[in-house]
Amino acid sequence: MFSKILIANRGEIAVRVIKTCRRLGIKTVVVYSEADADSLAVEMADESVFIGPAPAAQSYLVADKIIEACKQTGAQAVHPGFGFLSENAGFAQRCADEGVVFIGPNPGAIQAMGDKIESKKFAEKAGVSCVPGHIGEIDDTAHAVRISEEIGYPVMIKASAGGGGKGIRVAHNRQDVEEGFPAVRAEAKASFGDDRIFIEKFITSPRHIEIQVLGDKHGHVVHLFERECSIQRRNQKVIEEAPSPLLDEKTRAEMGAQAVALAQAVGYDSAGTVEFVAGQDKSFYFLEMNTRLQVEHPVTELITGLDLVEQMIRSAYGEPLAFKQDDLKINGWAIESRIYAEDPYRKFLPSIGRLVRYDPPAEGERETYRVRNDAGVREGDEISMYYDPMISKLCTWAPTRIEAIDGMARALEDFYIEGLGQNVPFLAAVMDQERFRSGALATSYIADEFPEGFAGTAPTALQTDIMTAAGVAMHRLLAARAGGAPRREWTVLVGHDSRVVAVDETDGVLSLYLAGEDRTLTLDDVVWLPGRPQFKGALNGVPFTVDVAPAAEGFVIRHRAAKRKVLVLTARSAELHGKLPEKAAADTSKMIISPMPGLIVSMDVEVGQTVREGEIVCVIEAMKMQNIIRAEKEAVVKTVSAKAGDSVAADEVLVEFA
Ligand code: ADP
Ligand code: ADP
Ligand code: MG
Repeated sequence: MFSKILIANRGEIAVRVIKTCRRLGIKTVVVYSEADADSLAVEMADESVFIGPAPAAQSYLVADKIIEACKQTGAQAVHPGFGFLSENAGFAQRCADEGVVFIGPNPGAIQAMGDKIESKKFAEKAGVSCVPGHIGEIDDTAHAVRISEEIGYPVMIKASAGGGGKGIRVAHNRQDVEEGFPAVRAEAKASFGDDRIFIEKFITSPRHIEIQVLGDKHGHVVHLFERECSIQRRNQKVIEEAPSPLLDEKTRAEMGAQAVALAQAVGYDSAGTVEFVAGQDKSFYFLEMNTRLQVEHPVTELITGLDLVEQMIRSAYGEPLAFKQDDLKINGWAIESRIYAEDPYRKFLPSIGRLVRYDPPAEGERETYRVRNDAGVREGDEISMYYDPMISKLCTWAPTRIEAIDGMARALEDFYIEGLGQNVPFLAAVMDQERFRSGALATSYIADEFPEGFAGTAPTALQTDIMTAAGVAMHRLLAARAGGAPRREWTVLVGHDSRVVAVDETDGVLSLYLAGEDRTLTLDDVVWLPGRPQFKGALNGVPFTVDVAPAAEGFVIRHRAAKRKVLVLTARSAELHGKLPEKAAADTSKMIISPMPGLIVSMDVEVGQTVREGEIVCVIEAMKMQNIIRAEKEAVVKTVSAKAGDSVAADEVLVEFA
């Protein structure tokens, strides 16, 4: 076996690879950029090598620096993680030429499969069912329009070298193509240094189902079943699971066989993923093959008991697969939630900043489920604008899907993050949705279920009781500290909902008499101290965790996706409170405010100009993502306070209308 491996990546995946290497007794080297000098991966690796400035193009993407680091440290092999150089055939070849083993497929397989146009040509020959479309390069906008009209709208414009949901756009009509083709081309050029574009039919409301394959250098290929990754925003996955609630044994076997046939046809010899879009009727079409480890590989590990990084290392070393297809079985159900530094309340825009607090749920066994959290960060670390805004990957495993979902909802409750926008409340909302729980998934799920964007959910009756109980218990503790005598009756406001709560404490059990229902909270179970941002307790024996923040006269409490101000008041102060006028919110309809911190790419309006509804006002870029800001209604521009090239903060006023 190798004695030393270099990891040409960062963050969560670098940490993930280190963990397996440690278990196998292999020494590790990580390379790092200026932005990652104090990272967890650098701390955990046996050795680390500095490779340059923060922008990936000057560090993680420079093959020379990676090869040089291998030579300098005597690393025999390179694990590329995902992203960066992982699907770069030139780099894999370069490693071979330099006598360093690339822990991934052979360069020929990457070449054939790593490119979407080439892989479709290949798949068609191997008898794999493909999305209808034009398998070839598109020259210019006129050509794009012609092809789109031949295929029939809607179509999808895609960068051949695309990945990570970048370089992809749906077009519903000619105007969309005329606008979208140059935009995708520019994005492809900027993100992948390759502006070849193709166009295929857009399958409406499909599901994303992919097959994990694994091969060795001795001609064996098996599949490790499927993952369903239909919950996506911006064509990028946020929640994945294995197995898929759609598939039956027959479809699973058919998709598995096609994936294995394709892998075998290209001499695939590592871990890889064959992605399909599937109709609700279980028809399926090949999308692309990812010739690398996939972000969501943990769910496959949880249902098969295999370590995919170990399997990749063994294959790269030349070991034959230690099992056959028939030896593999699906055990239970696993779900992954990608915890992102992004603001779900603002169209999931990336949010950068410091993890002022980072307190994930403990990993390991619970009564009905198991928790795994793959992270590359610690409290105090910074999520910078240079790389992917992923904070961690939270997984739960359980014998059944519903138990795994319930476990995920609880694990998300326990996840505490402060300092930047993050999507935990959104993920919790999905876990609580009947549609998600029923397994009726589609890639349009987020657009279908949150057409106006995510704004949190209204508390259910149970959640109102949870917030009430937490509020009363915290208030009681604070009052006791202040030397107040415990009262027997309070008026509790949860948002606008007001009710009288009789409270009785006997033998450490706080009983709350609520209209209709009695609830008890065992004070011994409560984990909270003044100043702590989370309150853990159990209502009628059912455990819960809420986030709490102090607010004038009370608390702001969040349980899952529901967030309310909670005030515990005497009858008299509640009465006074009811008479206070509500503060009016600022009128933001007459201005354009920056939805995220970023760089102004273009300012498309000037003072005095009349803009029509839908007209582009400006374009802002952050984390390599361009965000087009459009006018919501016809208006005359009164002021313009930013120009192309300016850095702007979130909420900064960019344009005001008369
Ligand atoms: P990437 O390389 O960015 O992962 P993919 O080709 O895998 O790009 O597409 C990403 C996502 O976009 C898919 O998971 C799917 O949800 C959606 N998608 C891609 N192609 C199509 C299509 N032809 N019809 C419908 N949805 C598609
Ligand atoms: P997958 O197809 O494996 O589910 P995605 O397509 O959603 O994953 O994202 C893979 C993308 O992650 C890469 O193409 C790249 O943009 C990004 N990426 C690269 N390196 C890292 C990293 N160290 N951590 C997180 N994301 C990364
Ligand atoms: Mg994909």
